[in-house]
Amino acid sequence: LVGRMMDEPLLVSSILEFAARHFGDGEIVSRRVEGDIHRYNWRECRRRAGRLANALTHLGVTMGERVATLAWNGYRHLEAYYGVSGMGAVLHTINPRLHPEQIAWIVNHADDQYLLFDLTFLPLIEAVAPLCPKVKGWVLLADAERLPATTRIPNLMSYETLLAAQPDGYTWPQFDERSAASLCYTSGTTGNPKGALYSHRSTVLHAYGSAMPNALNVAARDVVVPIVPMFHVNAWGLPYSVPLSGAKMVFPGAALDGKSLYELFEAEGVTFTACVPTVWLGLVNFMKEHRLRFTTFRHTVIGGAACPPALMDALIDDFGIEVVHAWGMTEMSPLGTACSLLARHTALPPDEQRKVLRKQGHAIYGVDMRIVDDAGRELPWDGSTFGHLQVKGPWIIESYFGEEHSALQDGWFPTGDVATIDADGYMQITDRSKDVIKSGGEWIGTIDLENIAMSHPAVLQAACIGMPHPKWDERPLLVVVPRPGMSVTREELLDFYEGKVARWWLPDDVVFTDSLPVGGTGKVRKTDLRERFAGHRMA
Ligand code: ADP
Repeated sequence: LVGRMMDEPLLVSSILEFAARHFGDGEIVSRRVEGDIHRYNWRECRRRAGRLANALTHLGVTMGERVATLAWNGYRHLEAYYGVSGMGAVLHTINPRLHPEQIAWIVNHADDQYLLFDLTFLPLIEAVAPLCPKVKGWVLLADAERLPATTRIPNLMSYETLLAAQPDGYTWPQFDERSAASLCYTSGTTGNPKGALYSHRSTVLHAYGSAMPNALNVAARDVVVPIVPMFHVNAWGLPYSVPLSGAKMVFPGAALDGKSLYELFEAEGVTFTACVPTVWLGLVNFMKEHRLRFTTFRHTVIGGAACPPALMDALIDDFGIEVVHAWGMTEMSPLGTACSLLARHTALPPDEQRKVLRKQGHAIYGVDMRIVDDAGRELPWDGSTFGHLQVKGPWIIESYFGEEHSALQDGWFPTGDVATIDADGYMQITDRSKDVIKSGGEWIGTIDLENIAMSHPAVLQAACIGMPHPKWDERPLLVVVPRPGMSVTREELLDFYEGKVARWWLPDDVVFTDSLPVGGTGKVRKTDLRERFAGHRMA
């Protein structure tokens, strides 16, 4: 017996259509790379996204073809999100922090037909364009006046000129919801990057699932700043979950330092953001230094890397902000878990509650997860047994773009993370499989060791790596960046671990450095650290 409900495909365009019709006046504010603030609303966004779809159709782009972007978070990038996917083409967002050769490799691998880019990336495109002869045209996301007088970039166009030539009133085509909507490559710290190809269905389901109160908790009354870049896993889906919720959207452009963000938050009445811990560290440091408070800011999601407990404490205790620690990855659209409390947790003393909140959290509906041993046997949910974390669900990758073979093991996607799951279903990441330290056949979780170091007042950042050891295979080395103007010794730090971890987890040695190497997505590159300290003799 078939249900008697309307069979409407879950298409990305339906989200913008909804926002334009039901929250038409809802504001979208962008700090532009041109330097000024731009304001318009969902109705205008829909009108211009339709013009872009028309323009691309005239340029010959067809269903399933890839159109790339190299852009910050801003309204034109948002129009590309909807214009490109909405017409049935595939939006390919590229991380501008990659090297030009890597960008060219990705553009060629994806077979991008056109590439839309922000003004700031003009020099980058000058370097990339000659390496990508198959790209038919390069579109500068600006007015025609901004086009350079001379350039090596073939078929360079102005976005505004393209849009101006089109009529209003584009009708979004209807097609199979399983069609590809967007493409994002993983950073490829080992080997070449791989593409996660999201479908309309997976994107819409993820937008619903991630907006729920246990996770992003975005509502119509919110004012949202997506700090997490639109070139990295679709800004964790915010360009979809914000219009679906009817919230006001504020784009920060390229200015992600503490001062710029604080001023934007206050000027626009921002209530919510989602970002990696390092951005919050910058913002909190700036605010503490200048003794500032938020007027409207209320809640944040932090993920992409483990949120240091000291940062979480500062946000909650010093600024009264609600913090949701979340975990996910490019292959998962990205959201997998988010950490909010159960009713009975609220009766716990504050430090017991905090222990729960530090975990990466509970699966959200749409994601199932489990931990397994090396032989693929499922491990217990006891909060202490570590295992390889595997996931499944309708917004999780089945196979990489351009690859024939499945990426799954027994129907589950292996995340490459090592985790525990407790009896309540709360997951805690202890490590990346490739970063885990194996000492005497047992795993040492580096995230725990790093978090403890970072809770020391004189420590700004810390990373823990495994060093070869003749007897134990590997032993931990702690690499520390001291806070400016403060100092701490090796002995003080090792004493600081006393009573906090098992004795055999204690780092064998501590080294100090000015900064940690970070990759294109702002995460510490432990491979670089292992190379840098390869010759280090443990004390
Ligand atoms: P990449 O895989 O290229 O680093 P992703 O954004 O896909 O880029 O990174 C996903 C990985 O980031 C996860 O597999 C996990 O190792 C790490 N990660 C994400 N969120 C968290 C978190 N809250 N705590 C610890 N690690 C996290």
